[in-house]
Amino acid sequence: MTQRTHRKDTRPVKVGPLTIGGNNEVIMQSMTMSKTHDVDATVAEINRLEEAGCQIVRVACPEMKDAEAIAEIKKRINIPLVVDIHFDYKLALKAIEGGADKIRINPGNIGRRHKVEAVVNAAKEKGIPIRIGVNAGSLEKRILDKYGYPTAEGMVESALHHIKILEDLDFYDIIVSMKASDVGLAVEAYEKAAEAFDYPLHLGITESGTLFAGTIKSSAGLGILLDKGIGNTMRISLSADPVEEIKVSKELLKTFGLAANAATLISCPTCGRIEIDLISIANEVEEYLQNIHAPIKVSVLGCAVNGPGEAKEADIGIAGARGEGLLFRKGKTIRKVPEEIMVEELKKEIDILAKEHEEK
Ligand code: SF4
Repeated sequence: MTQRTHRKDTRPVKVGPLTIGGNNEVIMQSMTMSKTHDVDATVAEINRLEEAGCQIVRVACPEMKDAEAIAEIKKRINIPLVVDIHFDYKLALKAIEGGADKIRINPGNIGRRHKVEAVVNAAKEKGIPIRIGVNAGSLEKRILDKYGYPTAEGMVESALHHIKILEDLDFYDIIVSMKASDVGLAVEAYEKAAEAFDYPLHLGITESGTLFAGTIKSSAGLGILLDKGIGNTMRISLSADPVEEIKVSKELLKTFGLAANAATLISCPTCGRIEIDLISIANEVEEYLQNIHAPIKVSVLGCAVNGPGEAKEADIGIAGARGEGLLFRKGKTIRKVPEEIMVEELKKEIDILAKEHEEK
């Protein structure tokens, strides 16, 4: 698949050393589960997320002790840190002072004007953006009264209201999310938002569920949007280990040709002709590919009935053949290997290919 770069035109917004929006890659985010004031636990979780490929991490900040922990957390992590604040401008000021790379706060919920100005001025001074998080479940009362229930139009109206508050203060480093747990509503809201303004969009289907159900629900919704060029950063929200959110994000971006330097696995659907323990091999190879940062395609076939030519598109692969495996490259068999060492041999070939890509 060719790498797609076309995205809807959006304003580029800097978050630490990264740029969200413009013609840049779609950035993968996740959020920690630990109490933010537990610095050791939060840093450990962030480091695990970074290792999995997470590019930006968000932490919750419900209390002052959480905001006070930001400075120490920042010193000990490598990826940009977003601090999620509801209402309290003092928490926002503390987080910004501590070195947050972005804050998530809705300016319309901060309260009196001097408080909004204080937060906006602090963000301006540090050159950090603000994410406006519109959520179908917490729309302003006046918007709910107008539309009767959460609608895409109401969500866009809410976003525009918060955007205007920032723009009136001459602040434009804005990122917006339009989350809903209803996939259809979220998709419509994001589509309308992409028409209404050019600030980058943070995609997500909120409260989407467990690893299994949430992956399907999020992928269904975000897939529609990514395919239309909508979305500049994303968080897959799952009731699961946040590392799983990153794995799902990566796979989704790969599906749409939006992941740079990611390896892809092609594995056969299995049938009665199978000659090897395909399912466990495919899982093992998939796990291995998580840490391969090169755009290579690896194929794993249960048998060689149609010959490795069936997987011509793959750069490298194996096919089961009665107690052994055929190792092939670009559709041509390169050698036969005993089944016991088949996966190890495949991994070696993957490493060689990855190195070749690095040297290119
Ligand atoms: Fe069946 Fe072989 Fe095709 Fe796998 S590669 S689906 S085992 S015929």
